[in-house]
Amino acid sequence: MQVKILGEGLISLLLAADCGVCQHPLEPSNITFVCIDCWSKIKWLKDPYCSKCSRPLPSTFKSIPTFLCPECRRQNVYFNRAFIPTLYEGVMKKVIHLLKYNKKTGVMRTLEKIMRSYFNCLNSSFPSLDLVVPIPLHRKKLRERGFNQAELIAKVVAKHLQVRLTKGNLKRTKATITQTSLDRKERKRNLREAFTVKNRDEFQAKNVLLVDDVYTTGTTIKEAAKVLKEARVKDVYVFALARAPQP
Ligand SMILES: [Zn+2]
Ligand SMILES: [Zn+2]
Repeated sequence: MQVKILGEGLISLLLAADCGVCQHPLEPSNITFVCIDCWSKIKWLKDPYCSKCSRPLPSTFKSIPTFLCPECRRQNVYFNRAFIPTLYEGVMKKVIHLLKYNKKTGVMRTLEKIMRSYFNCLNSSFPSLDLVVPIPLHRKKLRERGFNQAELIAKVVAKHLQVRLTKGNLKRTKATITQTSLDRKERKRNLREAFTVKNRDEFQAKNVLLVDDVYTTGTTIKEAAKVLKEARVKDVYVFALARAPQP
């Protein structure tokens, strides 16, 4: 009897679920967080984009597969390539906001679906990896938010690619102020010495995939990649769920 009541409760709970983006009721069979309509509006990152940082480029660049954007040509970038499935706008922006600022960890079901589709298409061209490392949050921020969104994403990535996830070795030592209000120079200054590696032996000669939620200007990821290289990591790759169209 109790099982039946529990079952019914679960069904009504599922029936009552609304799309986290447009608030329309979800189909009972839809166990993700967004409806089919919103899912179809997610913008996938399409060619052409920079072969290093995945920055979207004008369509005239389509014929040059190894093209680097001006920024990647100008500065030292310490990672080999950023793998990014979607553009950070519209539905995707809303979904990531729900996770980060409204603490709706249920959206991970939708984000998992995105990652699965992406990795299934990519499988053959993915580099061989030893470790998956989420971009850490400073402990103060972690306390405020209660979870590190990069770590939730990194867990899915590590499971899917069957690579070991390691957290706590790359540490955030400075409680940096939110990057969004700063210009490029200030962002760099803000992040100086923001990361440190606790145990260099764990990273030495390893191929590492750094994971974050969004690639905005790349300042945070580039700084973390630099610190990993200084800790003698062999190659650093990056995975982020979404790419801001213009840094
Ligand atoms: Zn919707
Ligand atoms: Zn680039």
